[in-house]
Amino acid sequence: MKQRITVLGSTGSIGKSTLDVISRHPERYEVFALSAATQVDLILEQCARFRPRFAVMASAQHAQELADRLKANQIPTSVIQAQDALELIASHQDVDAVMAAIVGAAGLSPCLAAARAGKRLLLANKEALVVGGAMFMRAVREGGATLLPIDSEHSAIFQCLPEDPATWAQRVDSILLTASGGPFRQRSPETLSAITPEQACAHPNFSMGRKISVDSATMMNKALEVIEARWLFDLAPEQIKVVIHPQQIIHSMVQFKDASILAQLGTPDMRVPIACGLAWPERIESGASRLDFGALAALTFEDADARRFPGLHLSWHALNAAEGTTAVLNAANEVAVDAFLSRRLRFDQIHAVNLATLEAVPSSKPDSLESLLDLDAQARQAAANVAATLAA
Ligand code: NDP
Repeated sequence: MKQRITVLGSTGSIGKSTLDVISRHPERYEVFALSAATQVDLILEQCARFRPRFAVMASAQHAQELADRLKANQIPTSVIQAQDALELIASHQDVDAVMAAIVGAAGLSPCLAAARAGKRLLLANKEALVVGGAMFMRAVREGGATLLPIDSEHSAIFQCLPEDPATWAQRVDSILLTASGGPFRQRSPETLSAITPEQACAHPNFSMGRKISVDSATMMNKALEVIEARWLFDLAPEQIKVVIHPQQIIHSMVQFKDASILAQLGTPDMRVPIACGLAWPERIESGASRLDFGALAALTFEDADARRFPGLHLSWHALNAAEGTTAVLNAANEVAVDAFLSRRLRFDQIHAVNLATLEAVPSSKPDSLESLLDLDAQARQAAANVAATLAA
């Protein structure tokens, strides 16, 4: 029996790579539903090719446009226009697995719906876990969902850890998240203020969405990944370390109590962790090229320079503060990155917005999705105020 997959964020970088892997295995997978925000042309093409039962767009205007064009092209996909459309396609009884590849906190609610419905949940949308960590993991446990990390670092750690999570606490000393260091790893900290969105989005090894590209350049991506790892693997913040490895061949490592280290290696291609998540514990062809050790130059490692990457340490700070602090940090960063991409803020001011927002929003411990979303909104407002002051 084929597995039916919902791809949330199918028009993004991860969404497209997921459809690429799925298309290599028509005997194993079929697409049940797709979702996008603005790219009607692309999702229309995807609907024509994969013939999903449902499609969802982020706004009523885009949904209507897609519905009209599906009809004109005689493609039998239905567009769901309800307020909770994403939750519906993430938790539908006919869905086996959900790829969560929406960018930002907007992905939290459908992720929770998939978790509560006990789906196999392939999590790329790290912000969902950063915002709702404790609530999210509770939903996974209570719903009986299978959570598989798609971030290459977390997929690497997952592959290196013993199969039984009950043994992790006793065996694992720490995890080492590798980081590329992004395009500005060697840039003089004094010149960070002049960086343009185009420069920040030109990642040395990966073509990714614009938000994660900026996050890689500031290393806020790694900060979010530290928080993600804390929840995924139930670790103390101090057990999570970061090391810069510019070649991105080692995707992360686990250090055990006896000082032995296991690493997962491969070419930097997101189709590898996607294929791993889709088929786990089996292995399927991903389409990625094989690592050629003969052609590899040195693998190098270095510490992150706090002057170039001041945001990285905010993750440990937020994890050691009240539970809602990671949601505040995420909201501030989304606002700051958006302001930078639309040229209202300088690159070096992203950190200033994050720091000032953490100071401005009182710490709290939200106990429901509503209170979490309230805190998220409060933090976005505070961050927007800081950004406006800095831009003035
Ligand atoms: P992209 O920006 O390329 O794609 C984002 C997707 O989400 C698009 O389909 C977009 O629709 C949709 N979307 C955007 N905003 C909304 C919204 N408000 N509501 C519903 N849908 C929305 O991002 P990436 O694919 O790069 O990243 C996706 C997630 O995966 C992020 O959380 C990122 O951190 C994570 N990730 C990405 C990696 C990568 O290599 N790219 C690696 C590891 C993790 P549209 O395009 O139609 O506007």
